[in-house]
Amino acid sequence: MAATDSWHDPERCPFCGEALASPGAGFVDHTAENPDCEAKFETWRDRIGGDVRGGWSG
Ligand SMILES: [Zn+2]
Repeated sequence: MAATDSWHDPERCPFCGEALASPGAGFVDHTAENPDCEAKFETWRDRIGGDVRGGWSG
C-alpha cells in the first residue's frame, strides 16, 4: 500500500480511489464526507510536512 508515496492522479482520492468532483478542491470535499480518507490524509500530510517543517523554522 504505497499509493500515498506519490499522488499521481489528482482526479482520484489516493486512499480509496474514488473519483473526485474536481482535482484539489474536490479532495477537500471528499475528506469532509469520508473521515477515513481524512484521517489517512492527515497522516500522509504530517509525514510529508515533517520533512519540510525543519527547514521553515524562523
Ligand atoms: Zn477517499
